[in-house]
Amino acid sequence: TTRIARSVAADRPFWSFEFFPPKTTQGLANLYSRVARMRSNLDPAWINVTWGAGGTTTARSLELAARVQKGHLHPDLDRVRGEANDVEQGQAGFTRVNGGDADTAVGQDACDVCLHLTCTNVEKEALDATLQKAKELGVRNILALRGDPPRGQEYWVAADSRFQHAIDLVRYIRQEHGDFFCIGVAGYPEGHADYVDRDVQRDIRHLKAKQDAGAQFVITQLFYDVDQFLAWYRDCRAAGITIPILPGIMPVQNYLSFRRMTNLCKAKVPQPVLDALEPIKSDDAAVKEYGVSLSIHMIARIYLESDIRGFHLCTLNLEKSVERVLEGLGWQADRGAEADDLSGPTAALAAD
Ligand code: FAD
Repeated sequence: TTRIARSVAADRPFWSFEFFPPKTTQGLANLYSRVARMRSNLDPAWINVTWGAGGTTTARSLELAARVQKGHLHPDLDRVRGEANDVEQGQAGFTRVNGGDADTAVGQDACDVCLHLTCTNVEKEALDATLQKAKELGVRNILALRGDPPRGQEYWVAADSRFQHAIDLVRYIRQEHGDFFCIGVAGYPEGHADYVDRDVQRDIRHLKAKQDAGAQFVITQLFYDVDQFLAWYRDCRAAGITIPILPGIMPVQNYLSFRRMTNLCKAKVPQPVLDALEPIKSDDAAVKEYGVSLSIHMIARIYLESDIRGFHLCTLNLEKSVERVLEGLGWQADRGAEADDLSGPTAALAAD
């Protein structure tokens, strides 16, 4: 089993962070030090790296995944590489292995990666190449996804008819790579937006099928309606879905991007949230502040009202809000918390 597989089985709070690869090389380089800081200060169980549907971010996603997995996050990495022979243990954050080649050195900030991978609008050869590359990089966790249609197209087309749904990718990875990868899949507490009727039960049947095909954990679409989430979670368990389900939590960072994002994935925004945001919507600092307290509140409720222990935090590549959410829950230095230590979430709700 991979470390992720062990994490999701543990009965204590844990969290994962999601990052997307920035568009430019400079943007990527700028992200490294932030990821390194968040990795060491906030102790995520693992880090997710997103994937552009159709393989549009292949090079950048793999680069980010490789750097995080190996802990090669030092901003001066390229200089360090050039001076590989001079790199001594501890210097520049690297530990010397295999005779001092910086490419194979494992940095102090090494962290398990869960690489997202979509299976539509790509040829099978491209999937094979990515899985092989992931293996070589030491990435042992894949979030197996179908993918959305490219921008401007309403429907996606399966470039290879063998890959119509995420389940086809789950099966394929199992068939080709056995148990090497720990496989996660996506879940939709409000039903998938593909269908106008948003039939939640149909989606639950498809989720169960993904579990039966070999998926080991679920990360949900972002949501803001905790009641709906908890009802869906109970329905999943009643339908025989036994694998861990991590709620996808995205702290609100900015009013317009929040509305755009929730529209895009058709997440319902409860009226009290809309009411709270309305008078502060043009004050970015106030919106962020509210976003932090809303996320704390959501996580604390889910923690106290269910057996869920793992939470997936969408960082939008930002640091502060996620840090403050974990701080608010009393969790950031608390990975070893006892299973029945509810003081953090209880205090967070009481302070509300
Ligand atoms: P599926 O599981 O295939 O489900 C898609 C739809 O098909 C659902 O309505 C489902 O009910 C239905 N369905 C499933 N199986 C069957 C079947 N056997 N027969 C008939 N219908 C079926 N997209 C990206 O491009 N890159 C990313 O990095 C990315 N990360 C994501 C992370 C998370 C946590 C989530 C929730 C989504 C992410 N997405 C990403 C978006 C995702 O690709 C889309 O939501 C996509 O529309 C569906 O992907 P899926 O894997 O859930 O597909």
